[in-house]
This record gives sequence, C-alpha cells and structure tokens, in this order.
Amino acid sequence: MSRKNQIIYCNCCGKEICAESLAERTSFLTVKKEWGYFSHKKDGKIHSADICEECCQKLAETFAIPPEEEEITEFV
Ligand SMILES: [Zn+2]
Repeated sequence: MSRKNQIIYCNCCGKEICAESLAERTSFLTVKKEWGYFSHKKDGKIHSADICEECCQKLAETFAIPPEEEEITEFV
C-alpha cells in the first residue's frame, strides 16, 4: 500500500492521488489480494495497491478483453 503521511499515492505512476481523508470522495482503484494456498509464488502474502483514475484507464487499454462496462442507474 502506497500511503504515507496520510497521502495516498498511485502505485502505478507514483503521483499523489489525494489525502486519505478525501478517499471517500475521490475516484481511484484500490486492489487487495490475499495470495493463498493456490498461488504458486506469493503464497501467504497480501498485496494491496492504489491506482489513480488515469492509470486505470491506461491499464484497461492494455487488456486483450476490455473491462465490462455498465451504467450506474442509482447513485448512492
Ligand atoms: Zn497513476
């Protein structure tokens, strides 16, 4: 996790995303994965990362199969 001094940084490009206190109101991706028994390399480790909106977009463009997209019909 790339969080220092209550600032969240993008693991992908290293840029500052926002202050931790504004995380709820900021658009970015947080991924967390527990590599358990069925993982070959990272057995028993938890990896987490924050990725900014811009990097998410770039990352998605590299996918062979684009991410599924649907409209949000209800904003909470
Ligand atoms: Zn980024």
